[in-house]
Amino acid sequence: MHANLRGMRFGGLLGALVGGLGVIGTLAQGPGDSPAVTVRGQTYTPRSILTRNMGTEEDQTTAFPPHKVVGNIYYVGTRTLSSYLITTPEGHILIDSTYERNVRTIEQSVTDLGFAFSDIRILLGTHAHRDHQEGDALVKELTGAEVMMMAEDLPALQAMRPGDEPYPIDRVLHDGDSVTLGGTTLVAHLTAGHTRGCTTWTTTVEEDGTAYDVVINCSLRAPGVVTAAHVAEFGRTFPLVRSLPCDVALGDHPAYHNMLAKHARLQPGGPNPFIDPDNCMLEVDIQEAMYQATLDAQGGEPAEP
Ligand SMILES: [Zn+2]
Repeated sequence: MHANLRGMRFGGLLGALVGGLGVIGTLAQGPGDSPAVTVRGQTYTPRSILTRNMGTEEDQTTAFPPHKVVGNIYYVGTRTLSSYLITTPEGHILIDSTYERNVRTIEQSVTDLGFAFSDIRILLGTHAHRDHQEGDALVKELTGAEVMMMAEDLPALQAMRPGDEPYPIDRVLHDGDSVTLGGTTLVAHLTAGHTRGCTTWTTTVEEDGTAYDVVINCSLRAPGVVTAAHVAEFGRTFPLVRSLPCDVALGDHPAYHNMLAKHARLQPGGPNPFIDPDNCMLEVDIQEAMYQATLDAQGGEPAEP
C-alpha cells in the first residue's frame, strides 16, 4: 500500500516533468500551460483547448451559418457556442441558449432556416455555465417554452441568472429521463464532472431511410484542480460516454465535432459529413487524457476542495 502510493507520487512527478518539458518544447504556450497531452498525433494543453472552444469574443457572438446537421437536428449557434434546434410537427426543442446577448442571434438563425422561434416548446441545456445557458430565462420569456434541466445543475443555474429573478424551471430531470415532443425522444444522461449536472443528450434520427444515433455532448473538460468529487464524477462519466451508441457526435462547442471542416464539406446530394462514427470518441480520448495528466500532476491523488 505504502509502496504503491509512493509509486503513484513518483508517477505524478514524472507526469508533471513531462508536462513541463512539453511546455518548453512549445514556447508560444507560455508558462503555466500544462499538462500537455498528445492524442491521435495532435498535442493539446489546457490553454489550447480553451482557445479552440471559445475563440474570440467576436466568435462567441457572431452567428455561424445555420444549417441542418442530420435528420431533424439543426445548428443555430454562433461560431464557437453551440445551440441546437430539433424540429417536430408539434413544435421544437432548443438545446443551449448560450449567452443572453446571443438569444436574438439564435432567434434570427431559427428564422433564417424557415422555422418560428415562437414554436420552441421545450428548452434543454448541456450545463450550467454562462456561455451555454445564461439566456435560458430570456428564451422562456420569448417563447413560453417549458424549461427542463438536470437536478444536479439546478443550484448553479439558479445562481447564474442575472438579477434576482428566479430561474424558470418547469421540470426537474434525473439521469435516464426522457423528453418527448412530436415523435422525437431525447434521453438525458448525467455526465457530471465539468459541472455537477452536465447533461449529455442522445436521440435517434432518420435520414434517407437510415436511422442514426446522435449524441449531443456536454463538455468533458476537467478543471485545473481535480478533487475527490471530480474523481467520482469523471470515473463514472468517461465509461458512460464511451458506452453510448454513436454515429453523429455533436459538441456544446462546435470545435468538439470539427464543425468548420465538416460544414465546408456539405454538398447538395453528397454524403453527410456530420455522420462520422470514427470521430465519436475523439473528444473523450482528449479529455480523459487531460484529466489523467492533471491528476498525475497532483501525485495521482485528488486535491482538497
Ligand atoms: Zn463549461
